Amino acid sequence: MAESAAAFTPQDIERGRLLFAGACDFAAGVDTLPRLPDATLPEVAFAGRSNVGKSSLINAITGRNTLARVSHTPGRTQQLNFFDIAGRMFLVDMPGYGYAKVSKEQRSGWEALIRDYLRGRPTLRCVFVLVDSRHGLKDVDHDIMTMLDEAGVPYRIILTKADKGKKGELKALIGAVQAELKKHTAAFPDVHLTSAHDDDGIGELRALMARLSD
Ligand code: GDP
Repeated sequence: MAESAAAFTPQDIERGRLLFAGACDFAAGVDTLPRLPDATLPEVAFAGRSNVGKSSLINAITGRNTLARVSHTPGRTQQLNFFDIAGRMFLVDMPGYGYAKVSKEQRSGWEALIRDYLRGRPTLRCVFVLVDSRHGLKDVDHDIMTMLDEAGVPYRIILTKADKGKKGELKALIGAVQAELKKHTAAFPDVHLTSAHDDDGIGELRALMARLSD
């Protein structure tokens, strides 16, 4: 994680672990805004290009292999999928974007849903924008970042698949992303480095979510 380890005390890490030690259930799949669950819990949403490693990261955070599979089942890939974490918060798996085989109509439908959701959800505390640590920011990532700036929703960049990159290249990429983040009003300035395969940065993300659930 680029955020200094000192930012999370052992107590923070333990709180994060405990949050995900309890129940963790699929609550709703939403393709139109009226179907949104009542805004009764704080929520954190996960966004990212298809194949960025979003399902793997959600599985690693929740410690369950089945959870994000729900979001991959046919009919659910274009929905906002809500998971109830111990009755304390919603984890929202947003549809993966940038998938080439999606039609224009599907894409504009998706954009409208996301835009309306981001603008109108008072309990949305933060969006984690996942970016592949080997590839850096792509046009579609810039698009969602701009959408988040316009909606005034705080967001953080989470780099995935850190185990795959070379150290020097990762450092350069982190520097480039941080420089870009300075231009974005709603972005948190630090980036988080994670690997779902090595469990790197996962405890810190849980701790962050526990903090956001307060
Ligand atoms: P999604 O489409 O964003 O949900 O991506 P998936 O979680 O399905 O992952 C896409 C591909 O990346 C799969 O082949 C995963 O095994 C791989 N992947 C995901 N996370 C990691 C990681 O942390 N390290 C490595 N090396 N591969 C990963």
